Amino acid sequence: MHPSEELAGRHFDAVIVGGGINGAGIARDLALRAHSAKHPLNILLLEKSFWGSGTSGKNSHLIHGGLRYLKYLDVGLVREALSERATLLKLAPNTVRPLRFKLSTNGPLDSLKYGAGIILYDLLAGQHRIGKSQYFGTNLSYWDAASDSAALVIDNVRDAKQLGTVCLPRSPVRRISGDGVELDNGVRVKAATVIDARGPWNRSASMRLVRGSHIVLPRLFPGGDAVAHFHTDGRIIFFIPWGDLNPVTLIGTTDVDHSGSADSVEISWNETEYLQNIAAKLFPHSADMPILGTFSSLRPLLAAPGKSASSTSREHHIAYRPDGVLEITGGKYTTYRLMAEQAADLACLRIAPNLASLHPTRTAPFTVPTLRPNGVDQRIAWAKAEEGCETLEEFLTCSTNWAWQKHWTAQDLEPLASAFGGGAEAFLERYEL
Ligand SMILES: Cc1cc2nc3c(=O)[nH]c(=O)nc-3n(C[C@H](O)[C@H](O)[C@H](O)COP(=O)(O)OP(=O)(O)OC[C@H]3O[C@@H](n4cnc5c(N)ncnc54)[C@H](O)[C@@H]3O)c2cc1C
Repeated sequence: MHPSEELAGRHFDAVIVGGGINGAGIARDLALRAHSAKHPLNILLLEKSFWGSGTSGKNSHLIHGGLRYLKYLDVGLVREALSERATLLKLAPNTVRPLRFKLSTNGPLDSLKYGAGIILYDLLAGQHRIGKSQYFGTNLSYWDAASDSAALVIDNVRDAKQLGTVCLPRSPVRRISGDGVELDNGVRVKAATVIDARGPWNRSASMRLVRGSHIVLPRLFPGGDAVAHFHTDGRIIFFIPWGDLNPVTLIGTTDVDHSGSADSVEISWNETEYLQNIAAKLFPHSADMPILGTFSSLRPLLAAPGKSASSTSREHHIAYRPDGVLEITGGKYTTYRLMAEQAADLACLRIAPNLASLHPTRTAPFTVPTLRPNGVDQRIAWAKAEEGCETLEEFLTCSTNWAWQKHWTAQDLEPLASAFGGGAEAFLERYEL
């Protein structure tokens, strides 16, 4: 029996649909408010696949202000994100870590411009600056932060669970309305407030889906710093050391309008070539390297007619829709805590007004941080129990990021595959490893 069947007919204070960073963040926020005020709330978080299986587990893994948004004079957005960066570095030190970026520009004029950009970036960070930047000369650098983005989703889910929230992965919802939801298996649940945190799966008219893709190459340069390259087309491309002991480099991202289903998102030939060419320009030895893997996901952005995919704002929108559902869209992973707080404020005004102005996530560290165990068997058990992973593909590509860290053979993969009750062929074929 699927655990969701036990929910049939139950009434919750809040049902949240979508277990990406926004849904998980709202679940933790509501749970912490209820706990700190000793005001019990029944909260349910439903995810159709595994935690962080959407954009939140397949992004650039950066907790950043977004240096490039200064170009669009999105100063407010950058300042807000820099302040959230500081909060996450403080409250989730096991998952979020500082990362230095070396800048690669297109000549001295460019360097002057971007050096000035870094000065403004640091000024906006103010007391939250992380480290010493280099503003002048040929070795420009600045500090930001990075995280294993699926892990921070799970940090939020684990805290919410610990405080009594019912959190169910593998529970797709087929109907959402202002007073409840219906799951694919027919189970209906009533709720005083329903929150739609389906990200790119929420296809409301105001949403623009923009695909971002990454390619993974073997490690391109020594050391733990990342490289931020300002390309001649005005886009920024990150080269991020990635994986346990940094065996590979993550290169991305692109910005391409996506009109297909949110369930089938793949890098195009043009995007691959675009990223490969930039890598070869900066690191000529990469031209002979095999692409170890690729991954793509969707940015759910607020539509702004006439704007390019790159220049469309990363602002967020949180409001009740005419059907009575509270919707959370747009924004960035980095600002999820603030977005979750604003969504929880609105939800509480309806379900528990005395909790509407409590903001515990500003100061509460994660009580059950995600420290995944070592050892393959333990790691598989953890992925199943804590992350909701059910397949070899989910385990290798999102939970562990191991998929591209070596050239896997069928022999290597068989024991892992059998732990998930399947074979390795489908995985090897799909990822052409
Ligand atoms: C390529 C790329 C790189 C990015 N890099 C960064 C970065 O480095 N830093 C940063 O700050 N931001 C970054 N972003 C933005 C950021 O990742 C997103 O804004 C954020 O992850 C969105 O989170 P979400 O919870 O709204 O969506 P998602 O993570 O997609 O979560 C939505 C969840 O809802 C679930 N769901 C959908 N339908 C249903 C249903 N019917 N029933 C139950 N569950 C359902 C999905 O399975 C999914 O898990 C990047 C975005 C992209 C595309």
